[in-house]
Amino acid sequence: MLLENKVAIVTGGTKGMGKAIALKFAQEGCNVVVTSRHINEAQKVAKEIEKLGHRSLGIKADISKNAEVKEMAAQTIRQFKKIDILVNNAGGVDVTGGDTTDATEADWDHILDVNLKGVFLCCMAVVPHMKKQKSGKIINISSMGAVNPAVSVLHYHAAKAGVLGLNTNLAFELAPFNIHVNAIVPGPIETPFWDSLQSPGPERDKFFKALAAKEVPLGRMGTPEDIAGPALFLASGMSDYVTGQVIYVAGGQPLLSQAATFLSAQGQ
Ligand code: NAP
Repeated sequence: MLLENKVAIVTGGTKGMGKAIALKFAQEGCNVVVTSRHINEAQKVAKEIEKLGHRSLGIKADISKNAEVKEMAAQTIRQFKKIDILVNNAGGVDVTGGDTTDATEADWDHILDVNLKGVFLCCMAVVPHMKKQKSGKIINISSMGAVNPAVSVLHYHAAKAGVLGLNTNLAFELAPFNIHVNAIVPGPIETPFWDSLQSPGPERDKFFKALAAKEVPLGRMGTPEDIAGPALFLASGMSDYVTGQVIYVAGGQPLLSQAATFLSAQGQ
């Protein structure tokens, strides 16, 4: 077991990648705190984890609200006495548009609050406990859109690029405390994240197939489990000499897709 008796907080652990990460950690012996804006959903996943034989707790915490985030950390400490791992996974885009023709200031503020300030707030609430322990693992989920956008979504991509800046600075500041900070950059992963763009169904399946064929060198959409494996590596002792790094979990995006375009231009 790679995470025996560890305690992890997974923000946005009720769906998609966060849920897969929470369950993967529990399978490796971890006690997992699952958070989201909906307490019932968080408690449902907590029950699934308990069925795997580990302790769990579902907490309602909107990561953009400092009081709720502080309470999330305090509840975890009351229940488990320590926090070994923080996965800053919660995020997403719940507004339409976002290019120079339709991005609004209100959308900018909201998307930055959730996708960048939320990560900052969670780190601020958890780091003091990790410092005391002189150990910790922080995993930040960014997005391929931060480095190689396929569509223009200014606020979301800027926020996710900000997460990478935060990742580097935190790794630098916290290395002397034996706190490891790394980021995952997911490519297109099939999760409820896409629901606001298109409802699940045959049309969406067709869209995913076309997207994967055109943009992903491995030729398929990612699954939440594809993210959970690298997250486990970064949470475990297997990565104890790794900090400040960014892992692209994206089916070969972006570099291989550029190479493929280059080769096809040469007729190869
Ligand atoms: P998802 O299936 O939509 O799940 C998002 C999770 O975050 C849910 O548990 C949601 O729960 C929670 N959440 C959303 N806003 C929150 C807030 N303000 N406070 C607390 N929890 C919040 O999304 P996913 O695809 O797994 O995405 C996980 C992460 O990867 C996100 O940061 C996303 O931006 C990023 N990402 C996704 C993709 C992709 O293709 N799917 C690609 C690149 C990056 P509630 O609604 O109950 O709060």
